[in-house]
Amino acid sequence: MQLLDGKIISAMIKDELKIEIEKRIAAGQKVPHLAAVLVGNNPASETYVFSKVKSCEEVGMDSTLIRLPDSATEAEVLSTVEKLNNDTAIDGFIVQLPLPAQISEKKVLKAINPDKDVDGFHEVNIGRLALGLPGFVPATPMGIIEMLKRANVETAGKHCVVLGRSHIVGMPISLLLMQNTNPGNCTVTICHSRTAGLETILQSADIIVAAIGKPRFVKANMVKQGAVVIDVGINRIADPSRKSGHRIVGDVDFDEVAPKCSFITPVPGGVGLMTIASLMLNTLKAVQINKY
Ligand code: NDP
Repeated sequence: MQLLDGKIISAMIKDELKIEIEKRIAAGQKVPHLAAVLVGNNPASETYVFSKVKSCEEVGMDSTLIRLPDSATEAEVLSTVEKLNNDTAIDGFIVQLPLPAQISEKKVLKAINPDKDVDGFHEVNIGRLALGLPGFVPATPMGIIEMLKRANVETAGKHCVVLGRSHIVGMPISLLLMQNTNPGNCTVTICHSRTAGLETILQSADIIVAAIGKPRFVKANMVKQGAVVIDVGINRIADPSRKSGHRIVGDVDFDEVAPKCSFITPVPGGVGLMTIASLMLNTLKAVQINKY
């Protein structure tokens, strides 16, 4: 079993980005600038946004964090998006999800300029992805592809079972893995909460991508010997032995499943770190596209 280590691979990407940004600075070009909009005080969202801002610093990018209160109206969020669309200092920006209930995520995502949409959630970017056209690819699926590529994992002709059909993970990773690219050229089966015979489908998978948000759902008896297992899940479970009282586990029962795998990602330390590195890559791409 080989660990697909998000710490090592994301550090490699960040080092490459750092060099790229130093080159831009030496050539008198603009330093990429990422903005993040955080509405409310959701602790998980705060953690994610802070690590994105910190990663910008690490690679030498500029970042701006815009905080709005939990009580912010949809109009206020839309007006913030509009300002960022028109601000030439900002190359790309994200609106951290989920948003408070009074705000339509659909409307907000649609309002983002697709050429600044470094999260890749805008319908135009999802459409480009579906057609194999250049655009911003959502950071988590992009991170998975980057990981497979850098670890030289063979994907062509393999049966990949994706657990979950969300717009941010399951659906886009399915599109990427079926494309005529490397990594890619998989035969993809997408499973969701209504899938019948899930265990049997999983047992036939050469590659499993688990993105359902159910702690340790995938067990050893569901996994074929030698499978590649990508665990996207981030689930907080109680752990009284820890000072915090909790710990993070994935959608895969790592201890049971790992011995059967050819490759597996750990949680934490796997796909999550790749997601942030991919956001940085998308921000560099944004400065190259927008040429402010
Ligand atoms: P969503 O809740 O949006 O989607 C979950 C998907 O899983 C749905 O398609 C749902 O089916 C499916 N599902 C739920 N239960 C089952 C089941 N028992 N069997 C089969 N399918 C099931 O989640 P996300 O895609 O946003 O996130 C999934 C996980 O990944 C979460 O733990 C999240 O925290 C994590 N995550 C991690 C990231 C990272 O950077 N590592 C980034 C983003 C998410 P249906 O459509 O029928 O409801």
